[in-house]
Amino acid sequence: MHYHSLNHQSPAVDFRTATIQGQAPDGGLYFPETIPRFSADFLLTLKTLPAAEVAYQVMAPYVGDAIPEEELRRICAETVNFPFPLAPITEQIAALELFHGPTLAFKDVGARFMSRCLGYFSRQETAPVTVLVATSGDTGGAVADGFLGVEGVEVVILYPAGKVSPLQERQLTTLGQNITALEIQGNFDDCQRLVKQAFADVDLMQQQRLTSANSINVARWLPQQIYYCLAWQQWQPQLPPVVAVPSGNFGNLCAGLLAHVSGLPVAHFVAACNANDAVPAYLLSGEYAAKPAVATISNAMDVGNPSNFGRILALFEAEHTRITGLMTGYSITDAETEQTIQQVHTETGYLLDPHGAVAYNALQRHLAAHPTPQGGFLLETAHPVKFREVVEPLLGEAVPLPAALEPLMQRPIERVPLPAEYTALREFLLNR
Ligand SMILES: *Cc1c(COP(=O)(O)O)cnc(C)c1O
Repeated sequence: MHYHSLNHQSPAVDFRTATIQGQAPDGGLYFPETIPRFSADFLLTLKTLPAAEVAYQVMAPYVGDAIPEEELRRICAETVNFPFPLAPITEQIAALELFHGPTLAFKDVGARFMSRCLGYFSRQETAPVTVLVATSGDTGGAVADGFLGVEGVEVVILYPAGKVSPLQERQLTTLGQNITALEIQGNFDDCQRLVKQAFADVDLMQQQRLTSANSINVARWLPQQIYYCLAWQQWQPQLPPVVAVPSGNFGNLCAGLLAHVSGLPVAHFVAACNANDAVPAYLLSGEYAAKPAVATISNAMDVGNPSNFGRILALFEAEHTRITGLMTGYSITDAETEQTIQQVHTETGYLLDPHGAVAYNALQRHLAAHPTPQGGFLLETAHPVKFREVVEPLLGEAVPLPAALEPLMQRPIERVPLPAEYTALREFLLNR
């Protein structure tokens, strides 16, 4: 499989190069040259296949011969070694729970897959590879955990001092081994600026092998197709589901579209957004305009110019009617999100996190306007405990910490405080 840049100014590359580079040299997103079709046999037997086999069948055509079969099977098995239950909420609506991974984030799947691919590719290198990431909270934890113990890869995470939640800080600073957390005396933009400066530092880049674990990386984007296949395994009705995806950068939804184009049955996609409505506005009008990001209570979706929008256009040759035939967008306010969390909890006992609540509300609206006998499901992308400051006041009760997180609270915090100045980061990287 080859990947071309959507800016069309860089040469096509294989999976290995696309993974190591992340973004094409011309600044474009990598996109597969052809969309593989699931075989009739795969679709027929899908409901009975083990998760690791599903992951391997989905990913093999995209990886091509960049990774030998045995190695890719091991990577796939390690990527999906936790449950992905489809939990019924009402007769019409279920939740695909994607928060049972090690950091309770759905980004665990992409981070685990990418880290292991990079670990494999770095085995052919003599010097270790350093992954440099800036995080505002959640992504850093999933990336750090994904790379934990991967040989030949060092991870350096920059996070803003005092601006991540205590739980998130523990997820970044207590892992040890090949993970180092830098506590930057500044905000998230400072962290991002420092990382960009490092990548632009020709002298530093000649001395060290630095790479990013950016969410636009194909090795983080493509494995998200697996969620939709694992959901289909658990889907009982004859008719295919309506699927609602809480969206920010649209990597997850775009992966779902890809799986559907490859042959996975889905009746319709619901693009569920908060106040950041660039894509729902495009779906309504056919005109796309990036907007400044607005802060909301579903903050992992606060994206004004979704980076994967270009991939959605590429998938459907930018034909607006083909896209609107398959997906409808909804923009949900914070008040509606809060009301949904409260109401669903009161009426059904199910506790949604703010991101899942946006998707629930959008799905409910879509089903009210387009009734179907089979209903659908939403992707629940985070555990509600990660947003306890939003959820607890609405319920008037505490959300208990899952047992899996207890050890985290016991481990010692290790972090390196640094001023938000590039010379300090440079010195740190050179003197490790
Ligand atoms: C990242 C994230 C999203 C948005 O996913 P995209 O692929 O960027 O659209 C939604 N919910 C949670 C909890 C996230 O962390």
